[in-house]
Amino acid sequence: MRSSENSRVFQSRSKIKFVREADWFLRAEWLRTRCHGDFGMKYVSTRGGAQHQRFTDILLEGLAPDGGLYVPEAYPRADLEAWRDLGYGALAFEILHLFADDIPSDELRALTSLAYTKEVFGTDEVVPLRTLEPGLHLLALSNGPTLAFKDMAMQMLGHLFEYVLAKRGQVLNILGATSGDTGSAAEYAMRGKKGIRVFMLSPRGRMSAFQRAQMYSLQDANIFNLEVNGVFDDCQDIVKTVNADATFKARFRIGAVNSINWARVAAQIVYYFWGYFRVTRSNAEQVSFAVPSGNFGNIHAGYVARCMGLPIKRLILATNENDVLDEFFRTGRYRVRGSTEVKATSSPSMDISKASNFERYVFDLTGRDPARLKELWRRLDREGIIDLSGTAEFTRVPATGFVSGSSTHADRIATIRRVFERYGRLVDTHTADGVKVCLEFREPGVPLICLETAQPAKFAEAIRESLGREPERPGGYEDLERRPERFEVIEPDAESVKRYIVAHC
Ligand SMILES: *Cc1c(COP(=O)(O)O)cnc(C)c1O
Repeated sequence: MRSSENSRVFQSRSKIKFVREADWFLRAEWLRTRCHGDFGMKYVSTRGGAQHQRFTDILLEGLAPDGGLYVPEAYPRADLEAWRDLGYGALAFEILHLFADDIPSDELRALTSLAYTKEVFGTDEVVPLRTLEPGLHLLALSNGPTLAFKDMAMQMLGHLFEYVLAKRGQVLNILGATSGDTGSAAEYAMRGKKGIRVFMLSPRGRMSAFQRAQMYSLQDANIFNLEVNGVFDDCQDIVKTVNADATFKARFRIGAVNSINWARVAAQIVYYFWGYFRVTRSNAEQVSFAVPSGNFGNIHAGYVARCMGLPIKRLILATNENDVLDEFFRTGRYRVRGSTEVKATSSPSMDISKASNFERYVFDLTGRDPARLKELWRRLDREGIIDLSGTAEFTRVPATGFVSGSSTHADRIATIRRVFERYGRLVDTHTADGVKVCLEFREPGVPLICLETAQPAKFAEAIRESLGREPERPGGYEDLERRPERFEVIEPDAESVKRYIVAHC
């Protein structure tokens, strides 16, 4: 007893001595870690330019100031024993608490239980598991208000934003561009939230009737739908131009809810644990997950869950014809596509030219070396490609659990039919991508969970092509296209959008 007390005193004395002798910089670093507690979760930039940020500091930001992405300094350990029998909201609290430990526990618990309810997600379970046959399951992530998995994280983000803005006495004007899914998930998460307005640009006549009606029918005073006479790229260019005006951006507190936001990744980690507990009886068992992928946000959350100690055997990444990521995992070459090279497919939410979260994964492959990462991304910007084949980085890939495959339109149509005929279950085109690829990697004795990322009702045309009939609408959406709409038509130029924001702030 006595000797351990002594050694503790000795240790703290020696630390103080070290600080006295150190230069002011080291002292400041030491004080900063003391103030935040030694065990607090801190965030760094993949490119080395930001250190010791806390969760609530990075929550409202997009990119780090050096252009990198924020990642936790280290992955926390999962407590599988303690978490196995928790309900979804309670599990979400336990996991998010590890990443957002600068929010007091009782307050974070209140936010998670507001986000994950039967009212919002339709069932007490929040995320039901559907067993197709023994060892093959769908994890139903698309029961939120916009019928796609983005609601899982976005609903939590809405509560986190409102909470942090209120604490700081700040407001936020979210400016975004959408071709469908992301914009509506953001609007449904932010509607009615205090201190937040959403200005969402969408291209005239380019969304499905369902997607358009879903957004434009919102009547909330803090949601502004701006229909742009142009295409999606015009909308995105306007957002970039407005954000490039630093004075305007600061004065009107312009923010974003893009898919590189760390809080979105963190909230997505939860359902990997949830799915694992539903299909296993002991924490020694392994499972594999299949994930229809675009920006690498969803599957990156699965990778983090694995790093935290969740026994995931394989992370099966599925792409459509836009196979940037499948190409990387097969060959080690990561080649971003030009916008004219991106194909418009029947799983449009996976039509990407580059995978914005991928930098986080490559950062880990480099052994978390920001200098090396920076060099790779400089090359990527310059040449549009990085080739990791034959490098130490690429040899680390198998140990991270990733395998990959891709699908074509014909594969998806056939898979929708096969899943319906064999299991009586209707899946959408994105989920069909995942099912098609996951069946190629099935192993005896390892349960396989395919993430269901959208409901078939959103993609009626492909269902008609596959089965010759209309998908059923979930309850509450029958009259969607007949509801009154609220939107403004706006010319495709940044000045008009700025004037609109000024007039509505
Ligand atoms: C966004 C989306 C995806 C792709 O998810 P990422 O996190 O971008 O990889 C897949 N399916 C649906 C339905 C989506 O909306």
